[in-house]
This record gives sequence, C-alpha cells and structure tokens, in this order.
Amino acid sequence: MAYSLVLRNGHVIDPSQNLSRVTAVAIQDGRVAAIGDELGPGLDEKNLYGKYVCPGLVDLHGHWWEGSSWGIDPDICLNHGVTTAVDAGTTGFISFPAFRRMQVSAATVRVLAFVNISAIGIPTTLVGELEDIRFARPIETGRVIEANRDLCVGVKIREGTMTGIHGTEAMDKALEAANSTGLRVMVHITKGADTRRILERLRPGDIVTHCFQGRGDGILNSDDHRLLPEVVNARKRGVQFDVGHGAGAFSWDVARRAFEYFFYPDTISTDLHRFSIARWAFDMPSVMSKFLHMGMSLEDVILKSTWAPAQAIDRGDQLGTLKPGAPADIFVFELEEGSFPLEDTHLRAERAVRRIRPVLTIKAGQIIEPGSYPVRLRELEECDRDVFRFVEETAGQRGTIGKINADG
Ligand SMILES: [Zn+2]
Repeated sequence: MAYSLVLRNGHVIDPSQNLSRVTAVAIQDGRVAAIGDELGPGLDEKNLYGKYVCPGLVDLHGHWWEGSSWGIDPDICLNHGVTTAVDAGTTGFISFPAFRRMQVSAATVRVLAFVNISAIGIPTTLVGELEDIRFARPIETGRVIEANRDLCVGVKIREGTMTGIHGTEAMDKALEAANSTGLRVMVHITKGADTRRILERLRPGDIVTHCFQGRGDGILNSDDHRLLPEVVNARKRGVQFDVGHGAGAFSWDVARRAFEYFFYPDTISTDLHRFSIARWAFDMPSVMSKFLHMGMSLEDVILKSTWAPAQAIDRGDQLGTLKPGAPADIFVFELEEGSFPLEDTHLRAERAVRRIRPVLTIKAGQIIEPGSYPVRLRELEECDRDVFRFVEETAGQRGTIGKINADG
C-alpha cells in the first residue's frame, strides 16, 4: 500500500530524534508514518534535493485575536512554516470564549494560548491592561483555563509601563492563577519592569519573553552590561528565556552581549502583531535567520523553533517533532546565500550571508505553498497611527520608552 505523501532526498533535521541527514519522510492519514532511506512509494512524492525538512515551526509568542488592536489572522503563519501559533495573552477571561469560537476554531493553523491575567487581555495600545489592578483576576483566569484545557498553556503577564505602579501585585496574581491551574507563567519584561525581583520569583518552567530587548530593565545590568546574576540563577532553576522579537524587543547589542556569556535563547519566537508586522514585515524564518547569523548552528536554531517551544508548553510528544505518529506538520526550506540586511528593533541592520527561505508548509499532511494565505490586516485607525509613528521615532533611541505601551 502506498503512503499518501513521501518527501525524498531532503536534509531532514529533527532535534527530537537527534536526526540531521538526507533521508525520506512518509506521511499517511495526516500523520508522520515513517522516516528512513528505503521507504515505499507514495501516491504523491516530492523530490526535495538541496532542501531542508524539519518539524512545523512552533511560534511561542504572537497575537492572534483580531478583536484586539494588536491581533492578526493566525493563518498567515502557514505562509512561513509555522504550524502551531501560540497566542501570548491577547485575551483575558472576558474575551477568551469569543477568541476560541471566532478565531481559533476558524483557523487552519493550530492555535494555543496563554490567558492574560488581565480580564481584558491586551485590547489596545492606548491604556495598559494592568494600570488598574482591579483587572488582575486570578480566580476567573483559572476558571477559563480549566474550561479550555485543550488550548490553554499558561498565564500571561506584561510587566512594564502597562502594569503602572502595580508590578509586584500583578505578578502575585499571575503566579496565583498559574499555581491554581498547575501551569506556567509567561512574563514579558520591558522598561519599567522590576526584572531582578521578577526573575527571583519565577519557578522552573516559567517563561521570560523579550529576553534580548534593549530598552532597559532587561537581562543585562544597566551599568556594566553584565548578565544579571538573577538571570544566571533563573536559568539554573529551569526558567525558560524566549526571544519575542516584536516591534521593540530585539537588540543586536543585547543579544551579542548575552552570547558572550554563552547565554542563548531557549526558544525563538516572533511576537508578531499588527504593529510589528507592519513595520518590520518579518516572520519566523527571518527571526531564525538572525540567530543563524549570530553563529548558532542550524540544528540549534531548528531545535529552538520546534521541539524546545513544544516542550516548554508540555506538547513535546506531539508537536515540534517528526516521530512516527506525530501530526504531519512539516516545514521545508532552503538556505539562500547572498547579502541580506537584517534589522533589529533599534533600526540597526546587519548583513547576513545566509537566510532561511520557506519552500513548503505541510499541515496535517496538506501541502501549503508560501504566500497562498492572503495577509488580511485591520486598517490602521488614527490612534494606531499615533502609536505607529511613536514606534518608528523611538525605535532608534537606545533605552527609551514613551508614554504609550507600544513595546510588545
Ligand atoms: Zn507580545
């Protein structure tokens, strides 16, 4: 009997099986059926000579609820190899049910979610979601997670200007919700966060996102730019550090400094949202290309974009892996050679000589060509334009952040 699809002659990289060599992958009934050199015929076969094959990418941090001014349609992920898109707390307990019904259920890409400790999630750039601490709701957050266990992977909190004067109390409530549900916290750290105290409080498996942001109150000491001892201790305890590139959270300087300390990200993610996609027009492959450019091996970059994020949310047995029986979620790409400007969120460009170029996304065995999902973006309103100008104007100024919470 023939397999439904066989991918031949590609260089298969699957860190979950310690695999990096040219071989074949067979797919049957939407799942990986076998990997090996002597596979039987397929009803459909692809010759992927010169291409790479890896598990579908798992983007641990994006904003996929279009009921928020931050949100975009998650299916655009399928254009660039992402088969699992994790929403990083765009909804809180009030908006989660509508998010599930109208966005997650309608999407072709798999969508999972952190639920924001703020009742209102992250609806707008105009007002921080925790500037009024009454929005921090551990009990209701726990209830919505219990009712949606299949989709919910943890509790999200943004610490910085958006918590106003309530950073510590808000963190208490996020940890309370996480403890009551047995799940992890993902904490965003930006200018205004009490990062050292936050790090001390995080538990094994909790996630720090925006780890290479350069706007202040990050992982480096502000005086001598050494890695904070709290960062080193947190990593030793098993706290995970996620990239969350976004519109304001990736600095070449911070990342390079961290690399001098052999401090590499645990997970690579985009923080794609309405504002980051408009300004930087990036995607998982371009963020991954930045880490390749900084000297990480291709295998490590793939690990941190597939199995590592899947494991970070306890889905490592099914997602980010090509083990037989796992969903046939696969990314096929090329390493393109040339000279490519890669910009950080401070508008500093470095020239890379290689970049990852998507060739095919396969979701549950179905082949999707890059660009086949139209990018439908909400029209910007006048208030968005103010935020957007602000992001552009301040992006180049190291360590600055203005009055608006556009630092996702
Ligand atoms: Zn974000």
